[in-house]
Amino acid sequence: MSEQIRALEELARMDAQLKALNDALVEERTRLSTLEKNLAELDARLEREQAGLKATERARGDAQQEARTMSVQIDHSRDKLNRSRTEREQQAAQREVEELRKLIRDKDDDVQKLGVEAESVRAQIEATEGQAKTVRSELDACRGDIEAKVKTLEADHSSTSGGRGALVRALPASLYRKYDALRAKKGTGVTTTTDGTCRACNMALPPQLFHRLSREPSIEQCPSCQRLIYFVAPEPAVKD
Ligand SMILES: [Zn+2]
Repeated sequence: MSEQIRALEELARMDAQLKALNDALVEERTRLSTLEKNLAELDARLEREQAGLKATERARGDAQQEARTMSVQIDHSRDKLNRSRTEREQQAAQREVEELRKLIRDKDDDVQKLGVEAESVRAQIEATEGQAKTVRSELDACRGDIEAKVKTLEADHSSTSGGRGALVRALPASLYRKYDALRAKKGTGVTTTTDGTCRACNMALPPQLFHRLSREPSIEQCPSCQRLIYFVAPEPAVKD
């Protein structure tokens, strides 16, 4: 019986370690998927910003082209003004020149405004690229962490599964099934008692049960939490 207790003890310890590693892995995977989502959002934002920049630059190019066309027109109008013979012709040409001058001024304002806008979009793109770069390197680090954890987990499984298998075989099949079912349901399948209470659920054990456990090595079940329970002798008191 004490052989079985030792096997059960070792099995519970091993399973707790594997569970901790598995939990860490799940946490890491959650972090990974959050980072991936953030990166996808940043990439989509970057795409929108780049499309915005393209449109702004196109509008600025168009405005510049229009301003150039008007400059050619104003040269024609100035020629007309110089060549005008009558006062009426002169006034008409003068009006044309003034109107074009105003239109060109407005166009130049547009070109300038669009230039400022493009500049600010460019700065925004740079900022977004910086953010994406940070997230990307975090992602790489996270992937590295996960790989390392999976390797540890696999190494633990292969080095201990031989050991785990031996431990499982050391237990009666019905006892192992109970252990495994409890572990699946409660996270741990084993508890101990030293002073008559269950270490897992803190309930007091019936006196006869505690008496039985402490008298000789045996494995029973805690009546309140159902975990497999065995007696562990108290630490010997240290004398001063
Ligand atoms: Zn209990």
